[in-house]
Amino acid sequence: MGDHDPKPAFRVDRVSDRLHFVHTEHVNWVVYSGPDGVTLVDSGYAGQRDALVASLDAIGCRPHDVSAVLITHGHADHLGGAVWLAERFGTPVHAHAAEVPNVQRTLVEQAGPVDVLRNVWRPGVARWAMAILPLLEGRSHPAVPTVRPLSERGGMVDVPGRPRPIAVEGHTTGHTAFAFDDEGVLVVGDAFVTRHRTSPLTGPQLLPTVFHHDLDRARESLARLRPSGARVVLPGHGEAWIGPADAAVDIASATDAPW
Ligand SMILES: [Zn+2]
Repeated sequence: MGDHDPKPAFRVDRVSDRLHFVHTEHVNWVVYSGPDGVTLVDSGYAGQRDALVASLDAIGCRPHDVSAVLITHGHADHLGGAVWLAERFGTPVHAHAAEVPNVQRTLVEQAGPVDVLRNVWRPGVARWAMAILPLLEGRSHPAVPTVRPLSERGGMVDVPGRPRPIAVEGHTTGHTAFAFDDEGVLVVGDAFVTRHRTSPLTGPQLLPTVFHHDLDRARESLARLRPSGARVVLPGHGEAWIGPADAAVDIASATDAPW
């Protein structure tokens, strides 16, 4: 493999028969692997390609086995592997219609270098920024060339695992969570997280204000995750939440964004 990530650091948690949570210190992704195929939800930074490939290998599949990539939202830490899979293997990449411009980077609802510099004095921010900079591989705007708006059948996305999309906008305009109802698992992207290197908090929480396109909307839309009935929640950052999804939502809703 390349020399961009000599020590791929990740951990794979099997959270149900068919769902695997891949945790890294920077960002997480989720792999569904069943008889109907393999779906990847989010895909890490460009510089985490080796970890992505190794995580698929640990689950028993190869990159070209991935039949669909779902993107919760078009931020660089969730898009990198999708760009590579689309360019290298022609893997279809899907996102909510309202999120397609972010995934193609014709719209950028993401904190930029100036936002980061303004907050660099805060605990953890400088170290976080130094750690992620090389993972961008010089492309702070990785763009997926072709993105398909979610196509649904009976309220489910028509990809392996047939997850149910739930619009939880605010972090970005088309941010989407995916409920794998048969597995009892809810993948929430950055609608809320359980840990981030720029936050002193642990447990369900909103990311710091600077990372949201619209924090108030992000907070309001959290309520849509309550009725999911899921018993496991997989966030974009931090550890899996093992317990009722509504309890995690209650905690995140009641917690102020750390800054
Ligand atoms: Zn993120």
